[in-house]
Amino acid sequence: MRRILVAGNWKMHGSLAMVDELISALVSGSSTDESADLAVFPPFPYLDRVRNLLQDTGIAWGGQTLNPVAQGAYTGEVSASMLLDLGCSMVLVGHSERRALFGESDEDVAVRFDAAHKSGLQPVLCVGETLEEREAGITEQVVGRQIDAVIGRYGIQAFAQAIVAYEPVWAIGTGKTASPDQAQAVHAFIRDKLSGADGIIGGQIRILYGGSVNGSNAADLFAQDDIDGGLVGGASLKAGEFLAIRDAAR
Ligand code: PEP
Repeated sequence: MRRILVAGNWKMHGSLAMVDELISALVSGSSTDESADLAVFPPFPYLDRVRNLLQDTGIAWGGQTLNPVAQGAYTGEVSASMLLDLGCSMVLVGHSERRALFGESDEDVAVRFDAAHKSGLQPVLCVGETLEEREAGITEQVVGRQIDAVIGRYGIQAFAQAIVAYEPVWAIGTGKTASPDQAQAVHAFIRDKLSGADGIIGGQIRILYGGSVNGSNAADLFAQDDIDGGLVGGASLKAGEFLAIRDAAR
């Protein structure tokens, strides 16, 4: 039985005041026996504050990316051990904004995934096609390639503790959500692919949907067989909306 995970990617949004307000609202709206797990991915400078506020609440927190190198002359970068120092249990890798705006290739993403996995952080591998790729009928080819980049280098066992987030690029921040059927079809493809390599890993891994998830569309998405929660951008910045998405898991 896979538990639903609702994870909030704050991207480059927020302030200390906003962190305090949002986290206290999430904490007061949650209890440890919820039917869904919650996680937040704040910008790096707020991780320490988030750690102080979330410790012992059952809500997890993580980084939005990491540098795969342990330490060194990499101005502006953050390593896995730094995220672990701040109590992170997870890290996003390969978000489409990292791929498109910061030039991360499939190989770069795979190396980050492996660095996270080896350090003990749970990697959340983001995959998804652009609108042009969907219209060209190559969604499965693209998503398959993004997953194979990790399996080909590090083997299927690298996915044993991982999470996959299917995020069609055309649905991120656009208000356009994949329909439950469209999303389910790609989630089933991802699960079949992972199951083909290892039945246990494929059956257990959580596959989140991301792309304009909100309190109104989450229940239909989460009702699909292979959708195990959501990676939420814009709607994770409003406590009421984020908790409404969590409530959709009930
Ligand atoms: C995201 O950036 O991961 C995301 C899914 O954003 P939004 O929910 O705003 O589409």
